Amino acid sequence: MEGPERILLHTCCGPCAVHPHRALVEEGFRVTAFFYNPNIQPSREHRRRLDALRDFAGRVGLEVVTGGDYRPEEHLRATLDIHGDRARRCRACYDLRLGAAAEEASRRGFPAFTTTLLVSPYQLHDEVRRAGEAAAARTGGRVAFLYRDFRPGWKEGVAASREMGLYRQPYCGCLWSEVERYERPRS
Ligand code: SF4
Repeated sequence: MEGPERILLHTCCGPCAVHPHRALVEEGFRVTAFFYNPNIQPSREHRRRLDALRDFAGRVGLEVVTGGDYRPEEHLRATLDIHGDRARRCRACYDLRLGAAAEEASRRGFPAFTTTLLVSPYQLHDEVRRAGEAAAARTGGRVAFLYRDFRPGWKEGVAASREMGLYRQPYCGCLWSEVERYERPRS
């Protein structure tokens, strides 16, 4: 007898995993979280977000795999020349992370992958979708990108993550977003 369909959930942090994980389980998927986020800078922040994900995962029985060692240079290389253009910079960031997720899904025999980036109202939602679809296409059809608009569950996920006491980050992740948050905040 076949079990539930497996899905690799690219996961940016613990709080953003709460709603997508719940929604996918309710749909009948067997979820594995994939943490590959070289965009998170600096190293201590990256470690803190991974620890928060592991904290959440331990509470709900979610398996977590990582994309290996922390390599922020991969994100810096992809965005250095375009960091002033947020749309291009974030698309390059999505391409990097979702490309790795698609490759990991293919390598591990998952039929599909998706991402917690689809829950955040702060991300460029349509670009996330396009990047996921492009990453799936680059696998030559070995894996599919499962698109879901998780945003209606955002507030519920925030509330649940607060109840659990999960670490919630104050900026998106990269050096550029940290500068924008603290040095050049929008009025
Ligand atoms: S702002 Fe967020 S999505 Fe955009 S490049 Fe930085 S870390 Fe990536």
